[in-house]
Amino acid sequence: MANSKYEYVRHFETQDRCLPNCWIVVRLDGKNFHKFSDSHEFSKPNDEAALNLMNCCAVYVMNEFQDITVAYGESDEYSFVFRKGTTQFSRRASKLMTNVVSLFAASYVFNWSKFFPNKQLMYPPAFDCRVVVYPSDENLRDYLSWRQADCHINNLYNTCFWKLVLQGGYSTKEAEQKLKGTYSSDKNELLFSQFDINYNELPQLFRKGTVLFWQKVEEKLMKHFKSKDSERLETKEVTRVRNVVVTQHIDIIGDEFWKLHPEILG
Ligand code: ATP
Ligand code: ATP
Ligand code: MG
Ligand code: MG
Ligand code: MG
Ligand code: MG
Ligand code: MG
Repeated sequence: MANSKYEYVRHFETQDRCLPNCWIVVRLDGKNFHKFSDSHEFSKPNDEAALNLMNCCAVYVMNEFQDITVAYGESDEYSFVFRKGTTQFSRRASKLMTNVVSLFAASYVFNWSKFFPNKQLMYPPAFDCRVVVYPSDENLRDYLSWRQADCHINNLYNTCFWKLVLQGGYSTKEAEQKLKGTYSSDKNELLFSQFDINYNELPQLFRKGTVLFWQKVEEKLMKHFKSKDSERLETKEVTRVRNVVVTQHIDIIGDEFWKLHPEILG
């Protein structure tokens, strides 16, 4: 096909291929979800339906991009890790990022009513997104540990904050002031002594966030076939191995998870 005289403008595009042989992390985060969660009256500090909606969107993204080996989510953010050798979109950062984030945002709207059957979506949510490449397994694990530590720190703070506000009779300003400069141990103690809450007994979904990864499962199916010596249709049970996304709310900072699932980084 003859090129038009306009075609030269393509050369203004920049190359953005991710470095070969590195983990590619795509992290998205809700835009101004402080306001979004207010407008949609999310329960504080953790709206379970909202977290489940995020997880549902992430599972959808993983099923669409099978080179995502593991994903981690908390609050209004999700990180998707593409395996080191992926050739998806020729490793082009802008393609990876925009496809993941737009699919996620579209799923969020598409699935909203399943998780909030009695709440109308007031306006279309947006998500920002970035790509970061990590050259070593250690860097990648530190990245994921960083996000899970963030989940813990925020959740402990938010749990205290909302207890003080919703049950303690504090104003938001006063609660902020009360928590200023406190350590984790102080916050644990506050929850225990003032509100009779053992932080470690709160749901793992809130404290640990969500990790998604692939697992092989055996599926039994009934298969119909015609035997050689008869015209009759016979039925036999067959076993099929399928790769499915599993959802867990567990520690990924220590070694245990990674020892149990060596294939994730393999
Ligand atoms: P930005 O656009 O910079 O990301 P933001 O308002 O989204 O701004 P974040 O640091 O991403 O700021 O924080 C997300 C906020 O969304 C949380 O602080 C919390 O108020 C709210 N939020 C997100 N998910 C939930 C949830 N499941 N339940 C309750 N509140 C939530
Ligand atoms: P890619 O993911 O690489 O973009 P694609 O299938 O979207 O693949 P495009 O080059 O973007 O390929 O072309 C979009 C295609 O979508 C068109 O070729 C056409 O078949 C279809 N399409 C888009 N908009 C319309 C429309 N308004 N009416 C009919 N067909 C459309
Ligand atoms: Mg942000
Ligand atoms: Mg946000
Ligand atoms: Mg966030
Ligand atoms: Mg096109
Ligand atoms: Mg297209």
